Amino acid sequence: MSQNNKENNTPNQAPRSNFIQEIINNDLKNNKNDGLVHTRFPPEPNGYLHIGHAKSICLNFGLAQKYKGLCNLRFDDTNPCKEEVEYVNSIIRDLHWLGFDFKEKPYYASDYFQKLYDYARELIKKDKAYVCHLNPEEIREYRGTLTQPGKESPYRNRSLEENLELFESMRKGELKDGECVLRAKIDMKSGNLNMRDPAIYRIRRETHHRTKDKWCIYPMYDFAHCLSDSIEGITHSICTLEFENHRPLYDWILDQLDVDCHPQQIEFARLNLNYTVMSKRKLQDLVEGRQVNGWDDPRLPTLSGLKRRGYTAKAIRNFAERIGVNKMNSIVDIGLLQHFVREDLNRIAPRAMAVLKPLKVIIDNYPQEKVEELEAVNNPEDESAGTRKIPFSSVIYIESDDFQLNPHKKFFRLSPGKEVRLKHAYYITCTKAVTNDAGETIELHCSYDPDSRGGGTKDGRKVKGTLHWVCAQHSHTAEVRLYDHLFSKPVPGSDDQDFKKDLNPDSLKILSNCRLEPCLSQAKPGDTFQFLRQGYFCLDLDSSGEKLIFNRTVSLKDSWAKIQKTQ
Ligand code: ATP
Ligand code: MG
Repeated sequence: MSQNNKENNTPNQAPRSNFIQEIINNDLKNNKNDGLVHTRFPPEPNGYLHIGHAKSICLNFGLAQKYKGLCNLRFDDTNPCKEEVEYVNSIIRDLHWLGFDFKEKPYYASDYFQKLYDYARELIKKDKAYVCHLNPEEIREYRGTLTQPGKESPYRNRSLEENLELFESMRKGELKDGECVLRAKIDMKSGNLNMRDPAIYRIRRETHHRTKDKWCIYPMYDFAHCLSDSIEGITHSICTLEFENHRPLYDWILDQLDVDCHPQQIEFARLNLNYTVMSKRKLQDLVEGRQVNGWDDPRLPTLSGLKRRGYTAKAIRNFAERIGVNKMNSIVDIGLLQHFVREDLNRIAPRAMAVLKPLKVIIDNYPQEKVEELEAVNNPEDESAGTRKIPFSSVIYIESDDFQLNPHKKFFRLSPGKEVRLKHAYYITCTKAVTNDAGETIELHCSYDPDSRGGGTKDGRKVKGTLHWVCAQHSHTAEVRLYDHLFSKPVPGSDDQDFKKDLNPDSLKILSNCRLEPCLSQAKPGDTFQFLRQGYFCLDLDSSGEKLIFNRTVSLKDSWAKIQKTQ
């Protein structure tokens, strides 16, 4: 990984003022744009937002907040074949969830179709655009390569009148899909391939999710984007690095036309995370191929997936702040994102006890009918969270991993003859393990020390292990879903294979017989808890009173916290 990446990943340092802020500070000093900062976030509604978009949202809306400016949400909806209302709605929902808001209304590039059409006519009249009848293959051939200049199209010198007439025919639906395109007339010998007479309008008979069948020609991204920015009075048009080579075209189009506003395009590196994929095309592929359960599958890096998993908006904003913006592409460790999730949940998530793989324990010297209420703090990080009562009786469950029949030397939890502490309760000693025919332990018998309630003993003896537990009679059954990385390779598909070949077959493990402390039955979907020793868990949307389903948000182990301490 690059040097740059390392710098990027250090948690919890004050973020550096980034290069975009420096550009803006300079503009403000020179009173450019009358001291106004107006940004935009321009998603194409062809999929759900992912954590990469969150970086862009935090940046664009964050700058508007910092400089008391504005940020528009604009749907870049110029490609009707892939766009849908479902995506528009999900984007608005996710943006709000992340904690940002647009003023009054969202904008749509499709609202400007008439204006864009008029601008295209203006270009034709200025002899800066022409209708070209080369087919796509010929256009590619004529374009040349990075080392070879392009050739001019035989249609390049059509008269203004003929171009205007043909463009009008395109619009009226008198020509077939793909029969011709409108191209900007720039320079077929340019060193930048984007400047070799790029197509700016194409014919496509597709019903648009907003304009329906009003148009059968649609503007290309490069043409629509700069003009939409200009129409909205955007001052700083911030996009990802792959558009750097498009900037000359962005500027060229605005320079040719009579526009009031010429925004400045600024590029930054997109966010990449290891062990996942971020492109909407790939995410869609997984959703449609049912490798995951919908766009909000908790294993996906989509905002709706992360939300369902229990990630908080604040954690994502803190993460975005920390990674900052720069000009070099790099891959950020997904562990850093999880670090910020733990940091936030540690602060806010109530603690509770849940046993994921239950092993029955019978406490022989505890009165059979007795039920005690023990007191437990809800969050040691937050006194105001108060305390709760936990029932205790003679039959409890502990985690089966917390018992070993023949313990190895460093095993300090329960084994025959050993004593451990039960969190918030008593010391118990294992007197007998009952095994089945296969030699598996199915039940334990223990004795407890009545004088050890709350964790201390009369003689001051110490034990090394503290276990979580639940009372058998008063606990609730639940399903718990444990997640691992969606892919088993840091960069899926890196060896030129189909990226889906790198899917991790163990990314989801379902435990269906977990036992929960009673208070957890009151949880509402989206509520997050720390299950002692097991991690953070969030009640899933599909839960009902009948069936509780918890998603593990993250485990407790935080490798980034250690790195942070050594710095
Ligand atoms: P994808 O490849 O995931 O489909 P996209 O760039 O085509 O991404 P858009 O809907 O066009 O998706 O993105 C809207 C905005 O979000 C753009 O300004 C884009 O640059 C930004 N963006 C998209 N992905 C990332 C990312 N990984 N990191 C930072 N910004 C991103
Ligand atoms: Mg895009």
